[in-house]
Amino acid sequence: MMSPAMVGYDLHTHSTCSDGATSTVDNVRRAARAGLVGIAVTDHDTCAGAAAAADEAAEVGVEVIRGTEFSAEHDGVSVHVLGYWIDPGAPELANELVRLRHARSDRARRIVERLVELGIDVRLDRVAALAGDAPVGRPHIARAVVELGVAADEREVFDRYLADGGPAHVPKHAVDPVRAVRLLTGAGGVAVLAHPGLFGRRGDGRGVPAAVIAEMTAAGLVGIETDHPDHTPYQRERFRALASELGLLVTGGSDHHGHGREDRLGCVTTPVSVVEELRAYRAG
Ligand code: AMP
Ligand code: ZN
Ligand code: FE
Ligand code: FE
Repeated sequence: MMSPAMVGYDLHTHSTCSDGATSTVDNVRRAARAGLVGIAVTDHDTCAGAAAAADEAAEVGVEVIRGTEFSAEHDGVSVHVLGYWIDPGAPELANELVRLRHARSDRARRIVERLVELGIDVRLDRVAALAGDAPVGRPHIARAVVELGVAADEREVFDRYLADGGPAHVPKHAVDPVRAVRLLTGAGGVAVLAHPGLFGRRGDGRGVPAAVIAEMTAAGLVGIETDHPDHTPYQRERFRALASELGLLVTGGSDHHGHGREDRLGCVTTPVSVVEELRAYRAG
């Protein structure tokens, strides 16, 4: 296992509650082994998971911050917003999460149809089985395609078919990033923009436009995840400069998913002092 960059919190982790391979209980155990103070449970478009990890967390002395990674979209490109300490029962957010879950199932069906047209005989029931109770995502589809032996790994399936704008990409209903910030903040949470350097327009590589980040800030965004394992040093620097310009905190998280190279809990962390500043933004 990689050693933590600094003892602190890993503010970005996935589990079997969305498209990760490890349970939230496993993640808490890994965090304890890595000497972390805490982790945020940030599964895609769900608040499930944190509660299941609470007993283990108390046992091993690791703090669990309940969170989510909310899927928004700007101009047809994914923008992910992390929400911490959200109230999962807040009605507006809960309604939107239900809507997203349905939109994801519908989109999975359409992506599978598209792949079949492209000659890849992937089965929707296999995708559904891989997702289990989690909101179904493109990584579940990618995994089912890899199982067929027609691609070496999930990354190849994204590059060839599933990436935003790819031949089997089907857009889903998605809220814009400003509304995402309002929903998370309205649910008593603290909103942080996830990995702004990823998922830009193809060939662009610049990520979420600065103007969009400025609008999100006006809507209540309090931080940017500059430290992400897939950000280049240049991207980290550029988004640090933007954060400083906009008066935003900078955070780090591993985006652990527990598959192959995504098995990386604790490889990037956020200092305790920054987590305390985030916590101070909590409503109530
Ligand atoms: P979805 O939530 O169904 O839109 O799928 C998005 C997830 O797929 C992201 O959170 C990543 O975990 C994964 N992913 C991997 N590569 C890419 C890519 N090139 N574009 C978008 N998502 C990707
Ligand atoms: Zn994911
Ligand atoms: Fe993400
Ligand atoms: Fe993530």
